[in-house]
Amino acid sequence: LPEPEITALTAADVAGLLPVPGIESDKYRRGVVGVLAGSDRFAGAAVLAVGGAVRAGAGMVRFAGPEDAVHQVRARWPEAVTTLLKEDPVEEVGRVQAWVLGPGMGTDERARRIAAEVLGTDLPVIVDADALTIVSKNPKLLHRQAPTLITPHAGELGRLLGVDPKDIEARRIEHVRRAVEELQVTVLLKGSTTVVAEQGRPVRVNTTGTSWLATAGTGDVLSGISGTLLAAGLAPYDAGSVAAFLHGLAARKAAEGAPIAALDVAVSLPDVIRHLRTAA
Ligand code: AMP
Ligand code: MG
Repeated sequence: LPEPEITALTAADVAGLLPVPGIESDKYRRGVVGVLAGSDRFAGAAVLAVGGAVRAGAGMVRFAGPEDAVHQVRARWPEAVTTLLKEDPVEEVGRVQAWVLGPGMGTDERARRIAAEVLGTDLPVIVDADALTIVSKNPKLLHRQAPTLITPHAGELGRLLGVDPKDIEARRIEHVRRAVEELQVTVLLKGSTTVVAEQGRPVRVNTTGTSWLATAGTGDVLSGISGTLLAAGLAPYDAGSVAAFLHGLAARKAAEGAPIAALDVAVSLPDVIRHLRTAA
């Protein structure tokens, strides 16, 4: 049978893809995630991206950013190993298995230098938020061999493709496929349904979310979750689609028909993972 063009993960699929530590595991083998996020203006994005990574089950989260972001991350996530970022994250942060690049980091000269350094490595990278703005002005940064997952909403994808975001919203599947062709990376397009696309694979649609997710900072949590899954060794296509599935369920669990704050989504992740593993 030919592969279908559009598919969705089931709860059983996700339970099967979730990394689970074994007797031979240690924190390094479970996966070290490097998070490069936050700026003096948006320190909270760092807390949220680190929170998504910690609560999705990273072996270790290494965070690097400016002073205020470091303070806030340490206050909320004492588990994270933090570095006050000076020049070059690749030198200063130490070994990681995957990078999360972009939430709240700004687009100034310093941010552009950091993005170029990280995208110049041969490690897997999640490119989100401000890092997407940076690469839309310098698309060559995405020409890399290592696994790369970009996580735009319609506005960010519109900027990358030079297309009106309204057109993206009107034909999401078509545009996500076009983005994969043009940019040669794995693409997770956010929205009320989230779609994940990769060359030669069916588009995976995720509908586990809730409209309560339409609140500031939830996307930053998603990039942290995706980073943990990439660092654990999942391919970008699986990491993105499993992350979207967990993120949507965690939001539902947190919301139960009432407003949520983005950090609640991270905090609810273990309940969701436990439930999925028990049901499987
Ligand atoms: P961002 O646009 O980066 O702030 O990320 C927002 C997050 O919330 C993404 O994961 C979206 O898929 C999700 N989201 C936003 N609006 C909705 C909605 N109406 N229904 C379900 N999920 C949503
Ligand atoms: Mg965002």
